Amino acid sequence: MQSISILGSTGSIGTQALSLVRLHPDKFRVSALTAHSNAELLFEQVREFRPEVACLTKEIPLGAIPEDVRFCRWVMGPDSLKVAAAEVPADMVLVSVVGIAGLQSVMDALHAGRQVLLANKEALVTGGHLVMDAARRAGKPLLPVDSEHSAIFQCLQGAADNTPVRLLLTASGGPFRTWEKERIDRATREEALKHPNWSMGAKITVDSASMFNKALEIMEARWLFDMPADKIDVLVHPQSIIHSAVEFADGAVIAQLGVPDMRVPIQYAMAYPHRLPTGSQPLDLFSLGQLTFEKGDEVRFPALRLARQCLAAGGAACTILNGANEAAVAAFLQGKMPFGAITRLVEGALDRLGNLPAENLDDIFDADARARRAVAEMLPAMVG
Ligand code: NAD
Ligand code: MG
Repeated sequence: MQSISILGSTGSIGTQALSLVRLHPDKFRVSALTAHSNAELLFEQVREFRPEVACLTKEIPLGAIPEDVRFCRWVMGPDSLKVAAAEVPADMVLVSVVGIAGLQSVMDALHAGRQVLLANKEALVTGGHLVMDAARRAGKPLLPVDSEHSAIFQCLQGAADNTPVRLLLTASGGPFRTWEKERIDRATREEALKHPNWSMGAKITVDSASMFNKALEIMEARWLFDMPADKIDVLVHPQSIIHSAVEFADGAVIAQLGVPDMRVPIQYAMAYPHRLPTGSQPLDLFSLGQLTFEKGDEVRFPALRLARQCLAAGGAACTILNGANEAAVAAFLQGKMPFGAITRLVEGALDRLGNLPAENLDDIFDADARARRAVAEMLPAMVG
């Protein structure tokens, strides 16, 4: 029996992780759950999974907590994440909050010696060197949940001590894969939220449409697998069956395949090194017929080019890209600007801020705040 704390339990990853706990009550027990604002869903989850601690990062009056869920300890406010990540005893901490909010939690969990299951890619994008160092010191390598990184991690299980020479990071290409640049620029919120293969939270779905998600994943892979960016290729693969692959010195390529279902990588991290049923459909290659591949287009999807530029620049460049993108996506989701403005705002923030240091968490949070301010200042010019 393994105990798990889930940060961001009301989100797409969090709810799927809980569905696996529900499927395997003899294997997993919930220690802590956290949500940002969806208090009603958190109440339901607390009723069902009976954690020791429940946290709401956006405070509500204690009186608003229903009687029947008061058996557990309730913690409110942004600092409550630390209670769930590091104070409540747990074998594993699944960090599935969205955005840079995950960075501090990952560091807190590692400092407390917890096994971190990492869905929140932004922690590695912004603080990759600090997170990897903390994981090494804790002697607890991160277990990736992101499907591509889980795939690479799974492929490496058969690698003995052979280091891969190249990582092949697959991408669905998102809803705008075949669209002309001008049409992408004018795309609406509804169009961007229609992902062809995956059902995910709003922010990552918009990132998949712009390919900023793949940009963040190149950065994530760079840190998780200690691989230089020029050895990480992006392979657009619209069927999302090959979740990623690794190439070795002899030319052999090992890939991980499956239907697009996040329960598989979430389960792999939760049960590692074992594998458990997930409720996922088996892969039927006959009905698929063929798998296809394309090169990522850096003209229609500048995010891919920006990712490589930021990794080459070092310092806080990736943090600026991430913070500007988070702020820009939030503005786009509020209907304040056209889709193409996301990239323009990220490029604008990178140009305005140049590079900044990223020696410690304070530097990173400072760079993030500046990127968001830069976006806020440029935003009025993007409206319309
Ligand atoms: P989501 O929006 O569905 O859920 C986010 C969760 O985080 C919710 O529980 C929410 O309450 C909480 N949250 C939001 N803002 C917060 C804040 N400021 N502080 C604390 N908690 C906050 O997101 P998601 O799609 O589940 O994605 C979560 C993370 O996993 C992201 O980093 C995403 O990139 C990554 N990821 C998701 C998927 C997927 O299939 N959804 C796949 C790969 C990676
Ligand atoms: Mg992914």
